[in-house]
Amino acid sequence: MRMRTSLAAAATSTGVLAALVVATPTVASPSAPTSAPTSAEPRPTAKKATAIGTGGAVTTVDPEASAAGLKVLRAGGNAVDAAVAAAATLGVTEPYSAGIGGGGYFVYYNAKSGKVRTLDGRETAPRKMPQDAFIDPATGKPYNFTPELVTSGVGVGTPGTLATWDKALDSWGTWSLADALAPATKVATRGFVVDETFRQQTLDNEERFRAFKDTKRLFLPKGDAPQVGSIFRNPDLAATYDAIARRGTKAFYRGALARLISDVVRKPRTTKNNKLPVPKGYLTQRDLRDYEVRSQRATKVGYRGHDVYGMAPSSSGGTTVGEALNILERYDLSKMTAEQALHHYLEASALAFADRGKYLGDPAYVDVPVRRLLDDTFAAERACSLNPAKAATKPVAAGDVTSYDGVCGPATAKGETDTDTENLSTTNLTVADRWGNVVEYTLTIEQTGGSGMVVPGHGFLLNNELTDFSTVYSATDPNRIQPGKRPRSSMSPTIVLKDGKPFMALGSPGGSTIITTVLQMLVNRIDLGMTIQEAIAAPRATQRNTANVTAEPAFITAYGPALTALGHNLVPAGDAFTSAAEIGAATAIEFGPKRLLTAVAEPSRRGRGSAKVVDPR
Ligand code: GLU
Repeated sequence: MRMRTSLAAAATSTGVLAALVVATPTVASPSAPTSAPTSAEPRPTAKKATAIGTGGAVTTVDPEASAAGLKVLRAGGNAVDAAVAAAATLGVTEPYSAGIGGGGYFVYYNAKSGKVRTLDGRETAPRKMPQDAFIDPATGKPYNFTPELVTSGVGVGTPGTLATWDKALDSWGTWSLADALAPATKVATRGFVVDETFRQQTLDNEERFRAFKDTKRLFLPKGDAPQVGSIFRNPDLAATYDAIARRGTKAFYRGALARLISDVVRKPRTTKNNKLPVPKGYLTQRDLRDYEVRSQRATKVGYRGHDVYGMAPSSSGGTTVGEALNILERYDLSKMTAEQALHHYLEASALAFADRGKYLGDPAYVDVPVRRLLDDTFAAERACSLNPAKAATKPVAAGDVTSYDGVCGPATAKGETDTDTENLSTTNLTVADRWGNVVEYTLTIEQTGGSGMVVPGHGFLLNNELTDFSTVYSATDPNRIQPGKRPRSSMSPTIVLKDGKPFMALGSPGGSTIITTVLQMLVNRIDLGMTIQEAIAAPRATQRNTANVTAEPAFITAYGPALTALGHNLVPAGDAFTSAAEIGAATAIEFGPKRLLTAVAEPSRRGRGSAKVVDPR
């Protein structure tokens, strides 16, 4: 373990830490406050979707989180320190998407070694979770996904986010956990300005938030969702961060808080007149105590002179994006019309999703053929099923990783659709520092609002990530429930190198559409001649091996007629929980000559994101 700087080794509270961090002279900037008192400081609310400059960059969905990350970079922290500070701030300002009650995947490019490393901080199933956990004991029938499973104790996995922050700092950071948490603690204390997204997400969750005493108290304070423009404070979360700053991760994974988390999951604290079913879960103190972040090798594929590094299983992100790229590399998309190129993108996605369904699960429990799935010869054989002139009937069949030679044979069997129950929550951030280190980090509590359950007196929501397990148990399914296992994810934090140097880092929320959003942005940028700003803004569509292609309205307007003529069935985006007709909420940084950074966030999706650079050009 390397020594980490503690800006405030002698300080006893994060209030002091916060003051020290902001008092550092190098943090001065027009938008960043340079001194206390905290209550009088302007709260960052302006969002700029593109920032170009040098010296480091941060991009997230939220101006407070991006400001926190930037402050750390200006105070001399590296990309890892800034990423943790930004993520902890997202836990305050985006509490329905991310926080210490959830999990995620952290990808890091180390400029000194030139290596990409990853951390798997996925939530895990409790040791006592039975394989029939999703069967209602009262009826012997499966619980409905909504409302039973999503709002339940049974969906709550052991959270991995705090352990991920600690491990990332420990491995590659220069700041202590206490110092990296300080900016977020300050935002939780002084409050942030409620925007439309926050109010709308609260309203979307109103029924289930009302079901729990502690959630109702925190997020429906006067019986209503906080008004746009009001200040939302979370002193309970500030105190939780403060306790972690003083005592380390054991303040969460052991002792009183661990006991409380386990109690809430096993006996949800519903309100008296609650009508929702809320099945109980299985999480114990021992599950929390034994939680471990996994360090693992990134997935890697070559794509037109780039090296694309992604997240290995338990996420399906790296293998599915990688396999689709390997298939696409066999065609010169740059010479095609946009419609033809998009047809190839959709078809390659469907093929890769078929293999995702058949082979992907937690590698600690099932044998995932990562190397074979990312083999160019396998891709050559999969490409046999891609007709450049006609969309295949979906679902397409999975390939056979045990025998392939890249030679096209007779058509394979009919495919199975993998039931898609992932939701459109989650958040993503991208950070680069002046030394050339890069972080791409996607974190989540699964559904917007997670399980709906706030831990009493602690200001954060628990995840419902275990709903990412297949809901129907089958002994041959790689993503079946098993005690201690991690449910399969789609999170796809991705770092692309060219000639051994960073070219682009990107990621997005959006359940299984994360995979196609990352893939589509790569195709937009590398093949279709778009700038990074255009690549993120371009309308999206997602084909996950289902009869329909889900697409944003602008995509349907632009490409609907041509793609329909090729046999695609386009339907407008929008899920059962929100009315948003959007796909994803990405962030990315592109690395240009002379260390020039172009940091981008969404120009309009999710109410627009916030990109910042240390020295704007
Ligand atoms: N549970 C999803 C996953 O792990 C993320 C949720 C989302 O993005 O909405 O892939």
